[in-house]
Amino acid sequence: MPKRSILSALSFVLICTLASCSSGATSTAELAIQNVTVIDAVNGVREGQTVLVNDGRITAVAPAGDAGDASETVDGTGRYLIPGLWDFHVHLTYDERLTDAMGGLFLNHGITSIRDTGGPLDKVVPAVAALKVEGVTAPRVFFAGPLMDGEHVVYDGVDRPALGIGNPDVETARANMARLADIGVDFIKIYEMVSPEVFAVLVEEAQARGLPMDGHVPLSMRARDVGPHVQSLEHLRNIEMDCAAAPEALLAERQRLLENPDGIPGGTLRSRLHELQRLSSVAAYDEQNCGAVLEAMANTIQVPTLRLNALGLQPPFERSDWGAVLDKLPADVRAEWQAITEASRQGAAQLRDNTFGEWSLHLVGLMHEAGVPIGAGTDTPIGFAAPGYSLHSELEMLVRAGLSPMEALEAATVHPAEFFSLSGEMGTIEVGRVADLVLLSANPLDDITNTRTIEAVVTKGQLLRRAELDALVR
Ligand SMILES: [Zn+2]
Repeated sequence: MPKRSILSALSFVLICTLASCSSGATSTAELAIQNVTVIDAVNGVREGQTVLVNDGRITAVAPAGDAGDASETVDGTGRYLIPGLWDFHVHLTYDERLTDAMGGLFLNHGITSIRDTGGPLDKVVPAVAALKVEGVTAPRVFFAGPLMDGEHVVYDGVDRPALGIGNPDVETARANMARLADIGVDFIKIYEMVSPEVFAVLVEEAQARGLPMDGHVPLSMRARDVGPHVQSLEHLRNIEMDCAAAPEALLAERQRLLENPDGIPGGTLRSRLHELQRLSSVAAYDEQNCGAVLEAMANTIQVPTLRLNALGLQPPFERSDWGAVLDKLPADVRAEWQAITEASRQGAAQLRDNTFGEWSLHLVGLMHEAGVPIGAGTDTPIGFAAPGYSLHSELEMLVRAGLSPMEALEAATVHPAEFFSLSGEMGTIEVGRVADLVLLSANPLDDITNTRTIEAVVTKGQLLRRAELDALVR
């Protein structure tokens, strides 16, 4: 090789290293998004960027870059590029009429990753497999399998769907954990009726297998004793009982009732405990007690599902676009939701008691101030959570609770990736990260509702423009 060529090759390597290989990647990129404002919760705002994508990965993020001969180019002028969103709390099989439609609905709304937080194995395993078929256009999916419940099971398949399985003793818990690990679940979801002994074994078994843990605070325990052992908690469930005055007495009362000598079904027993202690605990809020609880949650992602907890404060069916939302759903679900929401509009009492919704917003505000990490999840499809659409409502509620728009984005991108130890892979827009992206026509930092202005989505490197996104929805 002549000396000059060696030098130019060397200088290319140098430039390539300094400029994230933008010049090198240009010639082979499959996709270039040009002159776009890039926003992510780690790197902040970067204007006038060209983002290149190749083979499912981001290969360049560089100012005023040249698209070269990229196979496909998108003009990002005046537009905003954010990482693909997560819905961190989803039930793919809760309503099987929606299962097949969900993947398309999520992508249609910019959700490129979902976490299924509970479903029976015979249903959820095939549903997950269908989304993971090589080449299929679908969000990334992570799943827990069944809710790991206690001696009494809330979702027992009798008066509620069979989402849960029983762990009456530590031996059963160990056997169930071995089975779930064999099946290949991505994490474990602990439910409300487990005993402290079973809880300890589930934590031990999950840690031994490197599986992250999610759950509701078990009624037999205090939130401050649960938080440090799990990586995420849902719905703020039962946290109010440890934020109240005299939490020891409340715990003793719950433990007594959980002995359940009359064999009350799990779902009924749980409802009784909630009715007995939830609103009274909210009324007996004790700032000092709650401070200790929040401290225990310092590293536990809280997924408050505010759109569900505070449904009465912002009912989805009172939004002007609700008709369009229903139009995207399968006809039988649409008809059912329309009928129920019509009845609710005419004044269902439980939707109008906003005490718990207001408490939930207040508690998320406190958590946010205390630096507790927040995750964005919806509980789709429970409580009129239209797949995909409802995540944007959750982002709005997080901002209403006190998060900045950037922090709301963080809750739907960075924190979910952290839960699965995937921070090096996803959640930000950087060279080497997976190419899951959402192109918006308005700035989400000006107004979080602008996450709804989706012009295009990139999922696993594949560009879907508006027309293609709409074609994913029946
Ligand atoms: Zn759920």
